[in-house]
Amino acid sequence: MSTIEQQPSCEDPFDHLMPVDEARRRLLDKLRPERITGVDRVPLGEAAGRVLASPVDAPFNVPIEANAAMDGYALAASDIPDDGTACLPVVGTSWAGRPHSQPLPAGSAVRIFTGAVMPDAADTVVIQEHVQADTQTVTIDHRVVPGRNVRAAGEDVAIGDRVFDAGRCLAAADIGVLASLGFAAVPVRRRLRVAWFTTGDELVSLDQAAQAFAEQAASARAMPVDEPLSIGVPGSGLLYDSNRHTLGALLGACNVECIDLGVVADTLEATRGAFEDAAARADLIISSGGVSTGDADFVRQVFHELGDVAFWRLAMRPGRPLAFGYVGEAAFFGLPGNPVAVMVTFLQFVLPALRRLSGERLPGDAGSTSKDFMRTLEIPAISVSKLRKSPGRTEFQRGVMSVDDSGRVVVASTGMQGAGRLSSMAAANCLIVIAADVETVQPGDTVHVQPLHGLLP
Ligand code: AMP
Ligand code: MG
Repeated sequence: MSTIEQQPSCEDPFDHLMPVDEARRRLLDKLRPERITGVDRVPLGEAAGRVLASPVDAPFNVPIEANAAMDGYALAASDIPDDGTACLPVVGTSWAGRPHSQPLPAGSAVRIFTGAVMPDAADTVVIQEHVQADTQTVTIDHRVVPGRNVRAAGEDVAIGDRVFDAGRCLAAADIGVLASLGFAAVPVRRRLRVAWFTTGDELVSLDQAAQAFAEQAASARAMPVDEPLSIGVPGSGLLYDSNRHTLGALLGACNVECIDLGVVADTLEATRGAFEDAAARADLIISSGGVSTGDADFVRQVFHELGDVAFWRLAMRPGRPLAFGYVGEAAFFGLPGNPVAVMVTFLQFVLPALRRLSGERLPGDAGSTSKDFMRTLEIPAISVSKLRKSPGRTEFQRGVMSVDDSGRVVVASTGMQGAGRLSSMAAANCLIVIAADVETVQPGDTVHVQPLHGLLP
């Protein structure tokens, strides 16, 4: 079986760590989104977060006709002398949804309300605050600016304009624009199928207990609903499988079809079985754990048998070991086992890959100017903490960003940064990205942060 470019990797005889942006570039280049076919036409109400499969052109102008931007009087600016004083007869009213159907006779005005269609021959709205009026006449004593307070036909979207390109992930404003153009249903790429599993004999699954609670709740037995339910300590040497739930929650926010394959035991057979199952059902497979070089790290072994995979040692922390490649037609990410590393590598690598595989056109794709689009998600902040790190690796430390009394964006460390301390991730609202060549950040130094709410779709 062919192997994808493996340098630099664990198999690389040189002790060379791959920079984060280089790894991201390589893996995005290796993806084959064109092989994931299938289009659904979905009602507009289900299209948010989906990726448009075809371009959309405007079938008509929005607004369709010129209309008033303010409440006032519609008139022809040429009827008003330069000194801005005039008294005009009011010949009718144009309401939003109920236009005044006659053209405007020369030298007259029409009472008009915001959103109402401009009568033919009127080109300007004088706002009601600038006139004196009774039911019959309107007296203007302000200079009139031709065209003022009128929304031109097609000024929002002009007929024939390319409104959206294929590959756009539809956000709320896009849905509104599509609605304004009368699109009741749109073609979108089918949802990506993502299978994930965790590995480790030390892991205890919550699935059975959760199932039992769900069954109990469904039966008539009264259960207290105002307390969290813990099923207690997992047993000596064991721990609850948190990664699978973290990944499930991350994927749940991603508009993909989720296939949870459970906990996989540290044996060659179980690991092989999980990969075969996942590859048969999914476009993208994610595993956690087993990518180091320990005796129980079977993910590595199975990969050498089944897949077209590289093991990378990344110049980052947390998340140094990462496997990436293809198992059959399915793309694969072997994430580290440490819970913080799982989240960080998911956000930095899996999420962009998932977006690319979903057919989304990312900033940085052909024709775009932004090289590493993750950089566009970073903002500068002033560190209020001293941050230590090891040189030569990009660190993603957990931080809490806020705005100080002088209005500056500042960030504080969440404290201890061990890759196993998932609570530090829960306490954080951003990742502090510290460049590889930096050794220490002093209070007052500017760093870059990735707000966590900005990373997920
Ligand atoms: P591994 O890469 O398999 O050696 O895992 C590294 C460490 O991550 C293990 O020692 C566990 O403490 C932790 N770990 C691995 N998998 C999980 C999981 N699914 N949930 C929580 N912690 C995990
Ligand atoms: Mg393990």
